[in-house]
Amino acid sequence: MKRLYVFVAVFVVFAFLINRLMATAPKAAPPVSDVVRKAFERTAKEAREAVDQPKLKCLWEKPTRPRFKVTDKVWPEQFGQAHLCLWQDDKLAAMSYTIDDNGAPDHTWWIEQGKKYGFRATWFVISGRMASGGYWGTPAHWKKLKELGHDVQSHTVTHLHLETPGWDGINWEYAKSIELIEACLPGHKVLTLAYPGGKHTKMNSRVVAAKYFIAGRGTVGTLNSANKIDYFNINASGGIHVRQDEKGMWGNIRTLLDKSLYRGRQYRGWAVYLAHGVKAKQKEHLSSIFEYVKANRDKFWVGLFTDVVKYGQERDSASLKVTRVDDAEVRFTLTDGVDDKLFDFPLTIKVRVKDDWKAIGATQGGKAVKAKLITHEGGTFALVQAVPDRGEVTLKPILQSD
Ligand SMILES: [Zn+2]
Repeated sequence: MKRLYVFVAVFVVFAFLINRLMATAPKAAPPVSDVVRKAFERTAKEAREAVDQPKLKCLWEKPTRPRFKVTDKVWPEQFGQAHLCLWQDDKLAAMSYTIDDNGAPDHTWWIEQGKKYGFRATWFVISGRMASGGYWGTPAHWKKLKELGHDVQSHTVTHLHLETPGWDGINWEYAKSIELIEACLPGHKVLTLAYPGGKHTKMNSRVVAAKYFIAGRGTVGTLNSANKIDYFNINASGGIHVRQDEKGMWGNIRTLLDKSLYRGRQYRGWAVYLAHGVKAKQKEHLSSIFEYVKANRDKFWVGLFTDVVKYGQERDSASLKVTRVDDAEVRFTLTDGVDDKLFDFPLTIKVRVKDDWKAIGATQGGKAVKAKLITHEGGTFALVQAVPDRGEVTLKPILQSD
């Protein structure tokens, strides 16, 4: 009998412990709401289908290896030799400022900074709210930015708030946003997307994006290496800085200009700053960047995000051939592998000319294009702006009459 009591007592204690253990064991995931589950299923299906659907003619695939070797600036030695510059105007590196989520209260500050430091920025807008007023802004806000030379591109319709009434899938998030922005800004072209972050960011799909856009910007990452830009997941960060110490070199824009820093990994690359709302502390932080970039304006191309995207893809798919060299002229052709209707940004070609060329004239397909002469270590070079696939480029000296 006594043995039975002991047995029961042990059993009770044991059962109690098991019960406690179960109570502290991780609970099963809470049931996902039906709306969210269905939205994810639909998005996954749209992404699967998009793999086989036509994309824009652009570099939408992730590069598996560097596309070329990054070098110092190149100075061709022979008369008539031409070189495709890494960045516009043969600058050392590129820098772009991007602002997400509309942030109308900050527009005035950005406009002032742009004037003071000589840059233009890109707003990636939640297009379904761009006329909502308040923080989200009104059409007048976007028109003003556009007039001042800033850019307005897509951050989807709802920021993947799939509980929004009428939410209609990832194709709709991307395609409809273009329609909304272009309706708000007649004559304006939307070509690039910033993927929304947040809890539904997994819905973003590069294959769906490539049906409508020529590039997609992410929300994280180091500075972009010039020779392996993933145009549908372009790195961007608010952690970009110009500090003097060795911490966080991945985001230090000094590494773009100085190959002795960070083992040269980001030398001559492209920094994409990502801002949301800017409070006093961020304004101070940004000012340190603006100051540094301005002090090095001969080295930085501060370009609109979409312009740098165009330059990069044209350059990465370009072919440059010198077709004629004689005393009177140099001719070359420039072609690329991306869509000529969408990619219309001029590339900079550097051509060694004769030292007695004191001024030049340049034409492409018979039309005048921008060109200027520079000198380097006693040599004379032309920097010519030419859009790929617009005909042969001809350079001629303008002889000085004496
Ligand atoms: Zn956002």
